[in-house]
Amino acid sequence: MERQQDYVLRTVEERGVRLVRLWFTDVLGQLKSFAISPAELETAFEEGMHFDGSAIDGFSRVQESDVLARPDPNSFEILPWADDDGTSARMFCDIDNLDGTPFEGDPRGVLRRGLDRAREVGGYSFFVAPEMEFFYFADNDPSRPPEPLDTGSYFDLTTADVAGDMRKRTIAMLESMGIPVEYSFHEDSPSQHEIDLRYTDGLSMADNVMTFRLVVREIAMEQGAYATFMPKPLAGVQGSGMHTHISLFEGDENAFHDPDDPYNLSDTGRAFIAGLLHHAPEITAVTNQLVNSYKRLIVGYEAPVYVSWARNNRSALVRVPVTKAGKASSTRIEYRAPDPACNPYLSFAVILAAGMAGIEKGYELPDESAANVFEMSDKERAAAGLRPLPQSLAEALDAMEGSEMVAEALGDHIFEWFLRNKRSEWADYKAHVSQFELSRYLPNW
Ligand code: GLU
Ligand code: MG
Ligand code: MG
Repeated sequence: MERQQDYVLRTVEERGVRLVRLWFTDVLGQLKSFAISPAELETAFEEGMHFDGSAIDGFSRVQESDVLARPDPNSFEILPWADDDGTSARMFCDIDNLDGTPFEGDPRGVLRRGLDRAREVGGYSFFVAPEMEFFYFADNDPSRPPEPLDTGSYFDLTTADVAGDMRKRTIAMLESMGIPVEYSFHEDSPSQHEIDLRYTDGLSMADNVMTFRLVVREIAMEQGAYATFMPKPLAGVQGSGMHTHISLFEGDENAFHDPDDPYNLSDTGRAFIAGLLHHAPEITAVTNQLVNSYKRLIVGYEAPVYVSWARNNRSALVRVPVTKAGKASSTRIEYRAPDPACNPYLSFAVILAAGMAGIEKGYELPDESAANVFEMSDKERAAAGLRPLPQSLAEALDAMEGSEMVAEALGDHIFEWFLRNKRSEWADYKAHVSQFELSRYLPNW
């Protein structure tokens, strides 16, 4: 640790960094930042920097609102974009209370705790690779329908491809910040794009997702456009998912891999899937946290609706991608529910906790659903024991509220705050009279 701090101090000096931005994330997954001068960096490493904790969870707890930001030197990067103040750099922070204990409202701390637990219980390291889908629009004026920049579709290379150009610039910038990209392409919907990040450990990846969303937006803004991670901005076409590829490693060994299994999947891998399926409804409020998230999780748009697993079937909630024979390191499972508007720290934390519950309690994996679950009748689905995912934010919150597993994974503070905050979002939505209702009912009733 000491050496990484020295590296940071030296680089700041050598590169003439004028400002060091300290980044952290609030409970809903919004990036927050404050800046310090390089002169304060040593103190920041040794003692942390005071700030008002209500910036994270929205509480103004007048009495005890001060917390400490402790920059994580492993997350140090020079920011590649121009800044009026000269070169600047950033580090993600862990948040502590003034007495040095971890602040229970810090999402990064929640994920750290989950990762430590998986290491203690089974010697597991948790690796993830998200597929980030998003839309480019002309602007973000909510009073008009969003205006796509192209009419392309899956894998299209459109001519005069402004969006393709933005995607390319985004990737170059991500790579210059140490975030490697595996694939990128035009997705199914007009103006919808996907960038897949190369797998890494859960904590670095949650940091990467935060950086990713910022970089995608910055590049779009430079071109006078707007990028959104809203899960379903356009009705009638696919929404944006954040399919998350997951594996557990024990040292250098992929704990999900078994060369003798027909699916190359070990007992550990199967139990992890079983845990995910068992707890899927309870974690959905976290992986899909907006009212709008549930407009994506409907039949017919390659987003999951029923709790099921399969190899290479895009209607399933958990997919086990077929990998090249003998490629042990790439054995993984794909959890298809999350959307890119989630808080990646909390989302990875509940996914890991659900899978670990499967391993620790030895849940049995139900049969694979070989068929396309969208094409089955309700009766067939019921006979196959296929439960639906929550159909709305309200249902998802009900499922979450009853879950000890989620309460434990998030900690009481965030668990309760999240439920309260999201219940109030649902109440606002419920009280709202929409254009749909006016068009449908006003002329006739
Ligand atoms: N856009 C789809 C979703 O909402 C996913 C399409 C795909 O990459 O399979 O999850
Ligand atoms: Mg996709
Ligand atoms: Mg996928």
